[in-house]
Amino acid sequence: MMFKIIFMILWLGNGLVRTPHKLRYKKTEKVKSNKTKREIILVLIVAVGMMLMPMMYIFTPWLDCFNMGLPDVVRWIGLAGFGFGLVLFWRVHRTLGRNWSPILEIRRNHELVTDGPYKYIRHPMYTQIWIWVICQWLILSNWIVGIVGVLAWTTLYVIRINDEEKMMAEEFGQKYEDYMKRTKRIIPGVY
Ligand code: SAH
Repeated sequence: MMFKIIFMILWLGNGLVRTPHKLRYKKTEKVKSNKTKREIILVLIVAVGMMLMPMMYIFTPWLDCFNMGLPDVVRWIGLAGFGFGLVLFWRVHRTLGRNWSPILEIRRNHELVTDGPYKYIRHPMYTQIWIWVICQWLILSNWIVGIVGVLAWTTLYVIRINDEEKMMAEEFGQKYEDYMKRTKRIIPGVY
């Protein structure tokens, strides 16, 4: 019960961090959109894994038969990671600012962001979502919630990542190529 409540608070915290960016996103003008239909479907799949499943687990007994019974210490580690993710999410959103988009888009006066967390990795927001789905699994200690979350996110990540970098390279040319040479994707110095 306690884990569910703390998870819920942090989960709402993420929503709160995103809300102002979502509102602004609707108002900014986009000049290019890549594979829009596919991208919307991917976002919906991720919403199942990161919103629908954990909420179903918290508010209904339907998934209780898949509980894993992880030890409390593991669930606390998950909470610590999820909390760290929330801070990272806030920081990344602040840095990316109006250039953020839930799908693959270039907006009018799009700027290439390479500072803050973007100094070390090209996709810190995706790093945060990897942390999210893994920690969600640990905190809620449930097979179905865990597997659906990780699979949903893996699907989007694998299908999108190359297209996103291709789109950025087409838009920013040498500047992005150079940026790619000095940074990794999601884990500083590793990958
Ligand atoms: N992949 C990044 C951004 C996720 S949001 C991350 O994980 O932090 C996806 C949108 O961000 C893309 O449609 C693209 O328009 C934009 N984007 C990605 N990398 C960017 C960068 N370095 N600077 C500016 N915009 C970027």
